[in-house]
Order: sequence, then C-alpha cells, then structure tokens
Amino acid sequence: MNILVTGGTGYIASHTAVKLLAAGHQLVLVDNLANSNIAVLDRIALLSGQKPHFYQADIGNYAALSAIFTAHQIDAVIHFAGLKAVGESAQKPLHYYRENVAGSLQLLEVMQEFAVKSLIFSSSATVYGDPRELPLTEQSPIQPQSVYGRTKWMVEQIIADHCSADPSFSAVCLRYFNPVGAHPSGLMGEDPNGIPNNLLPFISQVAIGRREQLSVFGNDYPTADGTGVRDYIHVQDLAEGHRLALKLTHTPGCHRFNLGTGSGVSVLEMVDAFRAVSGHPVPLIICPRRTGDVAACYADAAKAQHELGWQAQLNLTDMVADTWRWQQLNPQGYQTPPAKLKEKL
Ligand code: NAD
Ligand code: UDP
Repeated sequence: MNILVTGGTGYIASHTAVKLLAAGHQLVLVDNLANSNIAVLDRIALLSGQKPHFYQADIGNYAALSAIFTAHQIDAVIHFAGLKAVGESAQKPLHYYRENVAGSLQLLEVMQEFAVKSLIFSSSATVYGDPRELPLTEQSPIQPQSVYGRTKWMVEQIIADHCSADPSFSAVCLRYFNPVGAHPSGLMGEDPNGIPNNLLPFISQVAIGRREQLSVFGNDYPTADGTGVRDYIHVQDLAEGHRLALKLTHTPGCHRFNLGTGSGVSVLEMVDAFRAVSGHPVPLIICPRRTGDVAACYADAAKAQHELGWQAQLNLTDMVADTWRWQQLNPQGYQTPPAKLKEKL
C-alpha cells in the first residue's frame, strides 16, 4: 500500500516506518519537525535500505497537505502527528486543541476531498482517566483528566461521526498504553527535548550520568510498593500493531483497540530492571505525587489479540535493554555525530 504517515519522524512513527517498509509498503512521511529531528530519516534509510518520501509540513496547512495528496496516490493514512505533553497541555490548551483537534480535522477533510477512506489514529490510554476498574477494556468508561486526553477523545469522536456519515470509511483508533524502548539496533529511539517527562527516558539519563537522580513521584499509592503502576509496551510491538491494523483497511467502521501488555510495572520495579540491565546505579529520591497521576493503569488487550492477531512479544528486560543500548550509542540522541556512532557500532 501507499501510506501517508503524519508525524513521520517522531518516536513511534519512525519505528513503525521501518516495520512497514520491511513489509513492502511505500511510505510518504510528513512532519513539521516540532518534536523530532530530520536525522531520523537517515536512520530509517540505514535500517530499511530505503529513504521514504518526506515533506516538512504542518498537517494544519491545507495547501501543503493537498499538494502531498496530489503528488501521491495514497491508500491509507497513519496519523501520529500531534502534541503529547500532559503538563504542557494544561498550560497551553488552545495550542493543544489547535494542533491535535483542528489538525486532525484538516487531515480528515483533505482525505475526504481525495477520497482516501482508511485511517489509523494514534489514541492513548489517557482517554480512560482514573480507572474505576482494572484491567481497562475498550468498553471501560471514558473520562479523560487532562487537556491532552480530551484532545484524543475529541478526535476519536470526530472520526466515529465521520465513519457513521460515510459507510465506506474505515478507521482504527489505537489506544497506546506506555510506549517505551528503542529499535534493537540502537539506531532509533526516543529523543525527548529538554528534561524528559516520562519515566524510562529519565531513568536512562540518570544511569548515563546526564542527570543526578530520579524523582519518584509518590510512594503512598495503593499499589504493592506504593509507587505508580503502568503498562509499559515496547515500541517495536506497537509498530507491529500498526502493521496488523492495516488488515482493517477495507473493513468500514470505527474500530478501537487497546495496545498494552496487560501487566503493570511499578516505578521501583522499573528502576530495579534498569539497574540490573545497565549495571549502573540509579540514585533516586521520593517526592510528592505528581498532580493528575493515577495509582495504576493497565490494559486488557484481548480484543487486539482476537481481531488483529496482535499480542505484545517483548518483555520488560527487552524494553530496558533496548533503551539502554540506544542511550549508550546516542548520548546526545539524534544530535550524536554519525562518525561517533560508527565508531561504536
Ligand atoms: P513524537 O512527538 O515523537 O511524534 C509526534 C510527531 O508529530 C513529531 O515528530 C512532531 O514533530 C510531529 N508533529 C506534531 N504536530 C505536528 C503538526 N501539526 N504537523 C506535522 N507534524 C506534527 O511522539 P510519539 O511518542 O511518537 O507519539 C506519536 C503519537 O502517539 C502522538 O499522537 C501521541 O499523542 C500518541 N501517543 C503517544 C504516547 C507516548 O507516550 N509516546 C502514548 C499514547 C499516545
Ligand atoms: N514517574 C516518576 N518520576 C518521573 C517520571 C514519572 O516517578 O520522573 C512516575 C509517574 O508518577 C508514573 C510513572 O512513573 O507513576 C509513569 O509516568 P510517565 O510520565 O512515564 O507515564 P504516564 O504518567 O503518562 O502514564
């Protein structure tokens, strides 16, 4: 298939791109580089032997999008582009609604104009908010607690309404739990700007000595060791989830799937796993809870298993080992000079 990948140089999209190229798909990537580095394209080329078409453009830019759809016969769109920082979304709500909601609307309108009828959308477990029951199924109550979570739920609803109005349109909303890890080669991974918000990139920067210590946000939750529990999922498993979701390209309607492992890991368990794999100390201090955090969140991913044939294959050790390999090979992320990288490979 010819697939347009929005947010194509981002963390999850770049891993998915390598997987889709290996499966024989043709890709057109579009990204405004707001949160990614153009160097990702060389890494995709290195890993796949192919350099996909790339457009530096904003999905909110009608002229740019329609030029891309005019230049390429697109069969399906995988829509990763968007902003994802929960804390920032509270400070800049209008910006988040513009980028995530209005941007997605613009994309859907251009798809309609060019009669492109298949979409896979990056949704999030944050749409469930504070779980009333665990594990979370696709039928669990939706009650997003953040602006970011609300943008994801709004886009899901827009997509569902569009599917109702156009019975030939097929959409798959993938609700990711906590994506972590990196490509096993160490050539691609997560490269957050500034201080990482997420647990694993932070631990990894502490272990490599870029940061002094981890702040553990709360050890008084009603969990086994008192720290927050999440369903961490390897980015390579997520990438495979997108490849399998393409099966539904010709099945009209709005399909929703949780992509998680189904098991929860606490902050302290993650720190222990990192210490064991890296052999480095991870100094930490216990801090107050982070506003908006929930005690525990993990998926029931049975629907993805039954309907897509998808199941997470990689375990916590794989997630940590691949993150650590990426961190060691790329101490400055994608800014790491290629010569230095070659020395280490
Ligand atoms: P990312 O920031 O690495 O990737 C998003 C990409 O979209 C970036 O390359 C960014 O430059 C680009 N982008 C942002 N706004 C754009 C716009 N208006 N036009 C064009 N490009 C734009 O993030 P990621 O972790 O790879 O996440 C991908 C998607 O998955 C996002 O929609 C995110 O909300 C969703 N998601 C991520 C997580 C997570 O924890 N990483 C969890 C659940 C859902
Ligand atoms: N966390 C932490 N210190 C950090 C970052 C995160 O203790 O520096 C905890 C956080 O409170 C939560 C878990 O790690 O319990 C996962 O947080 P992350 O931000 O990675 O994911 P999310 O909160 O979006 O599920």
